[in-house]
Amino acid sequence: MDFHKFTIKELSRILQKKEISSLDLCNFFLDRIRNIDSKLKTCISVFEEEAKKQAILADKMIANGEKGELIGIPYLVKDNMLVKGFKTTAASKMLENYIAPYDATVIKRLKDSGAVLLGKTNMDEFAHGASTENSAFFVTKNPWDLERVPGGSSGGSASAVSAGLCVFALGSDTGGSIRQPASFCGVSGLKPSYSRVSRFGLISMTSSTDVIGPIAKSVEDVAMVMKVISGFDENDLSSANLDVEDYLKNINKSIKGLKIGVVKEFVDSLDEKFKEVINQAILTFENLGAKIKFISLPYNKYAGPVYYIITPSEISSNLARLDGIRYGFSADYKSKGSSAENLNELYLNNRGQSFGPEVKRRIMLGTYTLSSGYFDAYYKKAMAVREKIEQEFNDVFSEVDVILTPTSPHVAFKIGEKINDPVKMYLEDIFVTGPSLSGLPAISIPAGFVDNLPLGIQIFANKFKEDLVLNLANNFQSKTDFHKKSPDIN
Ligand code: GLN
Repeated sequence: MDFHKFTIKELSRILQKKEISSLDLCNFFLDRIRNIDSKLKTCISVFEEEAKKQAILADKMIANGEKGELIGIPYLVKDNMLVKGFKTTAASKMLENYIAPYDATVIKRLKDSGAVLLGKTNMDEFAHGASTENSAFFVTKNPWDLERVPGGSSGGSASAVSAGLCVFALGSDTGGSIRQPASFCGVSGLKPSYSRVSRFGLISMTSSTDVIGPIAKSVEDVAMVMKVISGFDENDLSSANLDVEDYLKNINKSIKGLKIGVVKEFVDSLDEKFKEVINQAILTFENLGAKIKFISLPYNKYAGPVYYIITPSEISSNLARLDGIRYGFSADYKSKGSSAENLNELYLNNRGQSFGPEVKRRIMLGTYTLSSGYFDAYYKKAMAVREKIEQEFNDVFSEVDVILTPTSPHVAFKIGEKINDPVKMYLEDIFVTGPSLSGLPAISIPAGFVDNLPLGIQIFANKFKEDLVLNLANNFQSKTDFHKKSPDIN
C-alpha cells in the first residue's frame, strides 16, 4: 500500500478500523526513512525505539476506544524544538551534543494526542536562512529535483512531508520558514498568528515573530494538527489566552461573497509563467464565488529591510546565552594542556569555532543595530516602520477578508546558486516577511507547476483568523489537485 501518499484523515480512518496497527504504520515510515533519506537528507536524528514505544501506546489508545485524529500518526519535528532526553541541535555545531531536559509544549501536546514522533529534521542553523544550506551538518535536497534546495529554514520538514517520509511535520516560521519550503516542495504549510501556539521549548530566533506551525499534505491535515498544538500555555506567557476554535468546523463552508485582495504590484513583478499560476488561482476563487479586489500595499516594500534589522537585533540578544559555559560547544583546551587566558578569549573560541558564517553575520549586524549611537538610526526606525506596515494591513482588512499573494518569487533554486550572496537569499522572503512582522496567520498551498517544479500561493488574514485562512485554502483544494501530486522518489 502507498501509505506514504495518505493524509492524516485517510490513515486515521484505517487505524481506527484496525486495518493496520500503529506499530506497522510506524515501521512502514521508519523503513521509508531508512531507504530514501540517504538521497534526501531530511533527518538529523531518527528515534526508532522511542517511535515504536509511542506506536504501541497509540495502539493501546485505539484498543481502548479513544478517538482523535492524530492517534498513531507518524510525524517529524524540526530540530529546534526540544524533545526530552534527545538531542536538539538547531543544526548548529554549538548545540551538536545538547540533550533537551524537557519537552516543548507542542511535543507534549502531540504526545498526549497519540501522535508518533519519528525524529528531527534538518534546518538552516538556528533557522537563519531560506534554503537549508546553512545547516552545520548537511544540505537537504528537494524531492522534486535533487539538485535543488527544499527552501528553508524548515527545509527538512517540508522535504520529508513531500517525499512521504512522515505524514506531517512541524516547522517554525519567523519570516517565511514554513511557507517558502512548503511552496518549494509542493505541500501545505501554515504560519499561525503570533502567540497562537506556545513557543515553550522552541529555540528562539526572533522572539517577536517566531511561531511553530504544521506542514502537511492537505489543508484539512494542517487544521487537525493546529487543533492539537494551539492554545494558551502557562509556560509561555506571550501565548494568547484565547479559546481555540475547532479549525475543522468551518473548513468546508462556502466562500461565496468573501473578498480576496490581490496585491497588484506583487503579481506585476512576476515572470509570465508565474503570473499564469496566480491568474489561474484567482479564477478558481472566482468560480468558488469569492470576489477579487486588486489592492496595493505601498509600505510592504520596507518589510524585507525592516525584517533584516529587527531579526539580527533579536538574534544577537537571543544567542548571547550560548557561550559554551552553561551549555553548548566548548573549545578544546585540555588536549593542549592549557586554558583560556581570559573570558574574552573563551567567548571568542567557544562561539567563533561553533557558529556558522550566516549566524555570525547576523550576530554582528544585530550587535551593530542595537549599539548606542546606531540604535535610534536602525532598530528604533525599523520598529516605527514595522508599525506602519501593520497599520497598512489593518486598513486593508477593513476592505477585504483575506490577501492572496505568491509565496515566493520563483520555484526552488539550485543548490549553491544563492548561498554566497546573502542579499539575493534575503530577497527570497519578499512576500512572506510582512505577515510575520505583523503576526498574521498565513498559509502556503500548492497552486501549480512551473518547469515541473511546484509553486505555492500565500493566503493571509487578520490576527487569529486562522479559521478563515483554512476555509479559503481548503475550498481551493476541493477544486484543484496540485496538493495530491507527489514527487517520484523511492
Ligand atoms: N529566510 C528568513 C531568514 O533567513 C526566514 C527564517 C525563518 O523564518 N526562520 O531570516
